[in-house]
Amino acid sequence: MDHAGISTQLMVTRELKQEGLTRHDLGREHFVERVWQWKKEFGGQIINQMRREGVSVDWSREKFTMDQDLSRAVCEVFVRLYEEGMIYRGNQIVNWCPNDQTVLSDLEVQKDPQPGKLYYLQYPVSLSNRRVTVATTRPETMLGDTAVAVNPNDERYRDLVGATLLLPLTGREISVIADEFVDPEFGTGAVKVTPAHDPNDYDLGVRHNLPQVVVIDGHAKMTEAAGSDFAGLDRYQAREKVVGKFEELGLLEKVVDYEFSISKCERCKTVIEPLISTQWFLRMDQLRDLALDLVAREQKPRFVPEVPYEKVYTNWLENLRDWTISRQLWWGHQIPAWYDESGNIYVARSEEEARKQAIGAYSQMHGRNTQPGFVPKLTQDADVLDTWFSSALWPFSTLGWPGETKDLETFYPTSVLVTGRDIIFLWVSRMVMMGLKFIGKEPFEDVFITGTILDGRGQRMSKTKMNGVDPLDVFDKYGVDATRIMLASVGTTDVRWNEKQVESYRNFANKIWNAARFCLLNAEGASINPETLRAGGPDLALHDRWIISRLHKTAHDLREALRRYQFHEAVQTIYHFFWDDFCDWYIELIKADVTAEAATTLRAEARTRLITILEQALRLLHPFMPYITEELWQTLPGREARLLHKAYSGAEPTIMLSAYPESATELIDERAEWEMHAVIDLVSRVRNIRSEMNIKPGERAPVLIGSPDEKLREVFSASRGQIARLVRASDVFITEQLIAPRASARAVLVGGAAVAIPLEGLIDFEQERQRLHRELDKLQAEAGKLQAQLANPNFVKRAPAERVKEVRERIADINQRTAQLEQTVENLQ
Ligand SMILES: [Zn+2]
Repeated sequence: MDHAGISTQLMVTRELKQEGLTRHDLGREHFVERVWQWKKEFGGQIINQMRREGVSVDWSREKFTMDQDLSRAVCEVFVRLYEEGMIYRGNQIVNWCPNDQTVLSDLEVQKDPQPGKLYYLQYPVSLSNRRVTVATTRPETMLGDTAVAVNPNDERYRDLVGATLLLPLTGREISVIADEFVDPEFGTGAVKVTPAHDPNDYDLGVRHNLPQVVVIDGHAKMTEAAGSDFAGLDRYQAREKVVGKFEELGLLEKVVDYEFSISKCERCKTVIEPLISTQWFLRMDQLRDLALDLVAREQKPRFVPEVPYEKVYTNWLENLRDWTISRQLWWGHQIPAWYDESGNIYVARSEEEARKQAIGAYSQMHGRNTQPGFVPKLTQDADVLDTWFSSALWPFSTLGWPGETKDLETFYPTSVLVTGRDIIFLWVSRMVMMGLKFIGKEPFEDVFITGTILDGRGQRMSKTKMNGVDPLDVFDKYGVDATRIMLASVGTTDVRWNEKQVESYRNFANKIWNAARFCLLNAEGASINPETLRAGGPDLALHDRWIISRLHKTAHDLREALRRYQFHEAVQTIYHFFWDDFCDWYIELIKADVTAEAATTLRAEARTRLITILEQALRLLHPFMPYITEELWQTLPGREARLLHKAYSGAEPTIMLSAYPESATELIDERAEWEMHAVIDLVSRVRNIRSEMNIKPGERAPVLIGSPDEKLREVFSASRGQIARLVRASDVFITEQLIAPRASARAVLVGGAAVAIPLEGLIDFEQERQRLHRELDKLQAEAGKLQAQLANPNFVKRAPAERVKEVRERIADINQRTAQLEQTVENLQ
């Protein structure tokens, strides 16, 4: 866990506010103590949530960025980078939050497009009647202007370059300068330059050696330098006053509506004030090149999905600026820099080391005159480091670095980092850069970027909008397992939250539970025995060869999907196997064998096979649904230590430590799969017919099968008993050509075969025809209404695209169903 500097400090500050206190009332030491208390409480909550989610990690290795060993790594990195000249202290224009009273990195600033105004202000040219008009969204900053800039190629202003302007309201004189940076297309082509309050103007000011006049302070109030009329005013009050005065003087040319993006503090939403301040910076050029080089040379890290994240990552690196690493907070790693009374800086691993440096510096300066026993007075820098500075070191600071530990050797680099796209820059890129710099190797091979769960209307969930979903509530309602597998199925796409999906996986859990209960009720004399699944061959019944093949194919596909981080595909694979193949078909097919009264070898073998397949299926499902699979696994007869992964031999038997099923390709039996598929297809079609034609469940009907393919006839014939049982057939006839009375319900099967059920005597034709006609009428009426909706251009234009798609799909469904029903009516003539 990281210490989330600003957020955490904000939470505790809010708590204090309710008690009528500020952090300054407590003082630094007590405030930090208070934050530790808060962290204990809420950090514990996060851990408990993770445990409840079934997160399976080595809990003995829990780490926190402010732990002593991690703090040591932070200090070490800072000192080394300082000694290399990569960390420096300097003036920069920074993003300042006037509310939180701290600097923010570009990544902590949110840009919102917002309607505003563009003010056209006129500055008189000295000793002339001319005026130069500048356009600005922030007129109050004109009080700090130190130049007006134009593009050197702009004909309109060529003769004015070098001229002096009288800056209204201030009595100061400023000059017109030429700079390529100025866009002649924007506003009037002449721009005011306020080096102290705008990042671009700051750079321009440095290029032209312009003075910096600070007119706004850290609380967003006007300073003395703004003049006595304005000093002490809030920046927005000052704006009104400036505009009013320009109007009075006849120097306000016009005001136009203008939409522009406004920078706000990501956390408290206060509008950022760009201010010049002294901060600590980390030079990024060397680090950036290390990371870019790794992409170019080894295509690492590998992003999943690759598009668009690899490009997003490299583009960002290419445009990287120096990183402001100091924060005006109390909660965090205090910067390991000390100042003596003359303001000299000593960066060191400890105060003691800093003092030694200071004494060394004094004796060098004063030579023999240094007083013996002289102890310089040192003060540590009050600022702390950006939280992401310590987070950037996470892959190695947690493994004992700077020590050369066994852990580091064993676990660095890791295989994959799973994260959200909003911290690719803040965290991922910085871990890569720091890992390359200090370990000489990338910290992870792959980066998996998860999808985001949006609210029901497609909005991002946020604390301020209160549109979030508490996972614990969902766990209570549907279970952790259902929630986990649903979230896994999301993969890398963004999806709207829909409880129905969790509910459907809860039903899946029930299905598994019931299937397992059936197996256990018929498990007497059986015991898990993986050998029974290896003995394939023609001795086994078709359904056994088929399920063994399906199991191995599922294990193969699942491993493959997980290897490629295709979690959606993985979930679909195991879901289909468990629900359809295992529960719906296999259990049906072996029911007679395992429930037989007599305790025969056949029954014992069938039971053992069933339990063994269930055991393998549970293992495959375990990472997605850990609780139910463990619960059931523990009740299986024959669960033993030998099922565990060899790394855990000797441990208590638990599914958590069992080996993940391997796929034995020699047991994938395409022939059996094809044959079983034909039988399943036949049984499904006949069942469909029975329900379509309203044949009473207790009624036995003959089933007529025609197949020109001899192989297929053999397959049906071999499974005749199963087929008859599963579709309640009075008899099953298999011929080369389908021979059936006219009044039969028919269906086409795979492999060119066909099936028919003679209806004479089974149903009342007249009654059935009427029922079908009624249903057809109802469908036509519904289709008519939907067609009318689609014909209405307003509906198509205004309804959400999803709704329009739904309507189109429903019409297609109706058409298909109508064709089926018409065929049936015809058969009943
Ligand atoms: Zn803020």
